[in-house]
Amino acid sequence: MFQSTMMEGELTIAALVEYSRRVFPEARIRTWTGEGLRDASFSEIGDKAAQLANALAELGVERGDRVATFMWNNNEHQVAYAGVPAMGAVLHTLNLRLSPEQAVYIINHANDKVIIVDASVAPLLSKYLTGTPDVEHVVVANGPKEALTAPEGIAVHSFDELIDGRPTTYEWPEIAERDPAVMCYTSGTTGDPKGVVYSHRSIWLHSMQVNSSSGMALGNADSVLAIVPMFHVMSWGLPFAAMMAGITLVMPDRFLQPEPLLQVMAEARPTFAAAVPTIWQGVAARLEAAPQDISHMREVVVGGAAVPPSMIRTFDGHGVRITHAWGMTETSPLGTVSRPPFGIEDPEKEFAYRVTQGRFPASVQARLIADDGTEQPWDGESAGELEVRGPWITGAYYSPDGPVSEEAKFHDGWLRTGDVATISPDGFMTIVDRTKDMIKTGGEWISSVELENTVMANPTIAEAAVVGVPDEKWDERPFVLAVVKDAADADVDKQRAYLAERVPRWQVPERWAFVTEVPKTSVGKFDKKVIRAQYADGAYEVVESRS
Ligand code: AMP
Repeated sequence: MFQSTMMEGELTIAALVEYSRRVFPEARIRTWTGEGLRDASFSEIGDKAAQLANALAELGVERGDRVATFMWNNNEHQVAYAGVPAMGAVLHTLNLRLSPEQAVYIINHANDKVIIVDASVAPLLSKYLTGTPDVEHVVVANGPKEALTAPEGIAVHSFDELIDGRPTTYEWPEIAERDPAVMCYTSGTTGDPKGVVYSHRSIWLHSMQVNSSSGMALGNADSVLAIVPMFHVMSWGLPFAAMMAGITLVMPDRFLQPEPLLQVMAEARPTFAAAVPTIWQGVAARLEAAPQDISHMREVVVGGAAVPPSMIRTFDGHGVRITHAWGMTETSPLGTVSRPPFGIEDPEKEFAYRVTQGRFPASVQARLIADDGTEQPWDGESAGELEVRGPWITGAYYSPDGPVSEEAKFHDGWLRTGDVATISPDGFMTIVDRTKDMIKTGGEWISSVELENTVMANPTIAEAAVVGVPDEKWDERPFVLAVVKDAADADVDKQRAYLAERVPRWQVPERWAFVTEVPKTSVGKFDKKVIRAQYADGAYEVVESRS
């Protein structure tokens, strides 16, 4: 057979780490401390990655072992991003906003052996560790190791003490590019959280896409304010894309309120930023109260939830271009990016493209499937569930017994996204609905079914349905339509107090309406379409409380 003459070469994270420390010593990771920036050059990050690998090897971490992080975006997290996959172990980024049950489930399901934790969130992790018998070591970064209380059997180390003085080189093992590198759980479906495992190859290819002109178009001249957490789909791939292209990353650590974020912007003057819409809503509101020039940012990529068109105009007014993007944990996450076709002169025509979720890159194939299973045309009108496939789209979920591709999420080798969309003849995707019964609030998911079950576990409730409703600040919030057994219990504060003890605070709904019956479908399920429509029409007497 006629053959290519090209060499073989494995695309690995170790190669990225070595490349970045040699070629971009001037690029930096800059972490906000609350008062100023704490810089580490890519050379220093590379040194520390090797030191961390040496330390973890001594603790007994072997190829394929899971090393979790429970951390904000900061220098030490970047060191873990580099060192853990490069040594052949698997970096498991734990979401800091999980409920205790979910966190314990995920740590056990992934079989995490070591957890690296920021001292500021160590007290939270301490609560989980009694339920995670397989964790052997916890490494506390950015503060005293005493911040963590661990049960007997778990060794606690200080990050700095553990790595200081160790060799700044490590013999990175030869790794096959399809081997696992990073894992991340998503609760973006109903049921237990599901693990997605990225390979060295998928991360490498995805990084090239992030930096390409149809992606985020980033390079060595950029300094990117990476607000999207490193525990949310690898901060949209920025830590690895940065190593590939010498991009300076500005990390906000735990300072995610509009005021400190604007302070970081003033200090670091980033050229680019990435975050969910809720963050930018907050920044926009703050800018009204305290004007500040943020036009040093040529662009901010916004995704994770739909960008309101008004937000694009507001930021245009600040000289900052918002670029809308779509993605999922399962898709690494890019996804679509909305870059209007070249040469459109009419600004309103261009605006119509900018509000869409955008075009798919060449490596991601997409199709729309209607309820009856037929594929829908790309005519900008026919809607269907979006299905995607490609080299950085997961083909299954992680299970200790081998990957599982359940029928509910995969369809003939395509990932069912649970998003309903249209696609224009020139490839611009617009999300119009969602099939998954989930609420995305401030970038985090709430399972409406689980919340509903908790609401109904209260003996004062006869029945209750939870749906997502639009919210200016958080994109979406849960709304409860409830039937109480005794009229005296139609009391929002009482109902909220019950929930506050059972779900994370940010999940407790503010908006409630008490009715005599929840609308149902012909088969007796809550009719959420009708509830949403009636809510929008103002059919319910909504009581709101935040106390
Ligand atoms: P996650 O896996 O948590 O990143 O969530 C992925 C989901 O967030 C997608 O399947 C969508 O439902 C939603 N999402 C992400 N980006 C957008 C966007 N630009 N517009 C609307 N929904 C989005």
